[in-house]
Amino acid sequence: MNSPAYYAAVPAHIRQLTPYQPGKPMAELERELGLSSVIKLASNENPMGPSPKALAALSTLSAELALYPDGNGFELKNALSQQFGLEQNRFILGNGSNDVLDLVARTFLGPGRAAIYSQYAFAVYSLATQMAGAQGIEVVATAYGHDLDAMVRAVTPETRVVFVANPNNPTGTFVEGAELYAWLQRIPPQIVVVLDEAYTEFLPNALRYDAVPWLNQFPNLLICRTFSKAYGLAGLRVGFAMGHPALMDLMNRVRQPFNVSVPALIAATAALGDQEFLEQTRQMNDRGRQQLQKGFDRLGLTFVPGQGNFVLVEVGQGAKIYDQLLRLGVIVRPVGAYGLPRHLRVSIGTQAENDRFLACLAQVMTQEMVVAARVG
Ligand SMILES: *Cc1c(COP(=O)(O)O)cnc(C)c1O
Repeated sequence: MNSPAYYAAVPAHIRQLTPYQPGKPMAELERELGLSSVIKLASNENPMGPSPKALAALSTLSAELALYPDGNGFELKNALSQQFGLEQNRFILGNGSNDVLDLVARTFLGPGRAAIYSQYAFAVYSLATQMAGAQGIEVVATAYGHDLDAMVRAVTPETRVVFVANPNNPTGTFVEGAELYAWLQRIPPQIVVVLDEAYTEFLPNALRYDAVPWLNQFPNLLICRTFSKAYGLAGLRVGFAMGHPALMDLMNRVRQPFNVSVPALIAATAALGDQEFLEQTRQMNDRGRQQLQKGFDRLGLTFVPGQGNFVLVEVGQGAKIYDQLLRLGVIVRPVGAYGLPRHLRVSIGTQAENDRFLACLAQVMTQEMVVAARVG
């Protein structure tokens, strides 16, 4: 097919982008297979559904839907302000925290500038960097996680942003709070440090740390959070970040005026106060992680002992196993695009979903061994 005339004129950094690959939607696989009982453990969504408080708040919506949202998100920022003990001017809201990551890139990056992130880190860091026309510096991981020392050594005069996910997706690796705090002091103050805490609500008490007080000491620190994972609101698209007022002011200049919808604002405000739901989510997730890890042990599979609401497991030919699981109506996430072709990332589901996934995986892995034995 001939490219239209404008194609070659598009900036090279845009033409070279590879779009983010989301988890396969359940409805799509159901259409393809003619099945109705597909399960999806592919996008780290909450298997309990949304916070009931969020649902209750959403059910009151009607006439407001005809109106533009509050572009400053006063109610949600007010609730966040009380929860975190920070003034409202230290928050920015996003259409998912993805939006916030993109705002960081568009505000601080651009041609001739660079961002640092780890090998196996969340794919959006490299995408946002490339979209901004900046150079991405990928630092080799250590034990699937961030090598913080190497990330300091990777700093160049062009570096403007460093991204760290803690816990990291898709590996689940975790850096202790004290180590992170000590590391922050080694990052030059003109570089913005994005601390992406999308999975922080899932951490066990022993690993909990609070980065919010660090904001007083580090005006270059941005802490990102989301309502998509533990709060169960991935479909609404809402996340936020905390940082110095100057950081927020700069990003607000780039932000679309109505980037968070009316339902998203209302539901997030209600969900924030739903500690009971968070606790239930955490408990179900802890049980599910044990269930999956035990299942992997039984199958003789190694996994990365991580945090978060997913497990990275080594299955051999990841793409092939992924495909065979699809045929059985189970959607997980292949991670070949992350440079992990031997692994799959499996989101922790309900007990029944985890059981079904493990049974299907056992079936697929046994077939694999039979085939391998025949070939061998
Ligand atoms: C899921 C995820 C996000 C953001 O998700 P949103 O739905 O855009 O809020 C951000 N960072 C990491 C590491 C994630 O895994």
